[in-house]
Amino acid sequence: MENNSNPVGLKNIILVASGKGGVGKSTVTNNLAISLAKRGLKVGILDADIYGPSQPRMLGINNEKPSSGKNGKINTIEKYGIRCMSIGLLIDEKRPIVWRGPMVHGALEQLIKDVNWGELDMLLVDMPPGTGDIHLTLSQKFFISGAIIVSTPQDIALIDAQKGLNMFKKVNVPIIGIIENMSFFLCPNCNERHEIFGNGGAKETANNLKETFLGEIPLYTEIRIKSDNGEPIIEKNNDQINKYFFKITDEVEKFLKENSAI
Ligand code: ADP
Repeated sequence: MENNSNPVGLKNIILVASGKGGVGKSTVTNNLAISLAKRGLKVGILDADIYGPSQPRMLGINNEKPSSGKNGKINTIEKYGIRCMSIGLLIDEKRPIVWRGPMVHGALEQLIKDVNWGELDMLLVDMPPGTGDIHLTLSQKFFISGAIIVSTPQDIALIDAQKGLNMFKKVNVPIIGIIENMSFFLCPNCNERHEIFGNGGAKETANNLKETFLGEIPLYTEIRIKSDNGEPIIEKNNDQINKYFFKITDEVEKFLKENSAI
């Protein structure tokens, strides 16, 4: 099995995964990345969701075109204190990608190796949904510090998340923990919790599997509105919502410090 070392300058590669699409993995990735950067860490995002890259839009950089550096590698786009690269920045967003598996794997490897990431404490990789070959390839080609699993409280999403968890374990990628997104509806008017999907499923799963529960994030309309406008909610000083991201940021920082990774 091939096991290359990571490109110089990349201290940690962290995979953000979900068993299922639409659970808010990309939203969580960029808010977490910005939150970590606000603490003085050097953070990058690689949008590895080759078939549906959403980071350019969510970060408001979808009209930017990356330049190429003197070394022939592609330069990242910087926004909100983080560096970003996405296949969505390199191809026409509206044209579907019709690549076969091996091409996708090659493209992802290149996006890690042939991009001028500079010095980064961590590169968060926004993975495609599911537990496919791409996950295996990345864990074989690079040293992965850990994986974060994002799930919603519904049973079906949790079952998929468990599959993902088991897959990472099989390839010896440490699990940083599980995040429950859309945990409950946080009413912006009355500030009350409404547990639409039933809450706490991810926490229970984490406990049962003896994994860390990193925290919950409410379903909150402004998260979506901001995201659609290219402004992650964390950029707005909204105490009602940002405290949930800060708790998760604490946990991720703790994991990296405990593992002497930052
Ligand atoms: P995934 O990466 O898992 O496919 P996305 O991050 O693209 O999911 O999120 C899917 C949609 O849900 C987006 O429109 C996003 O703005 C919205 N969304 C994600 N998390 C939340 C949340 N906690 N509250 C409200 N909307 C959310």
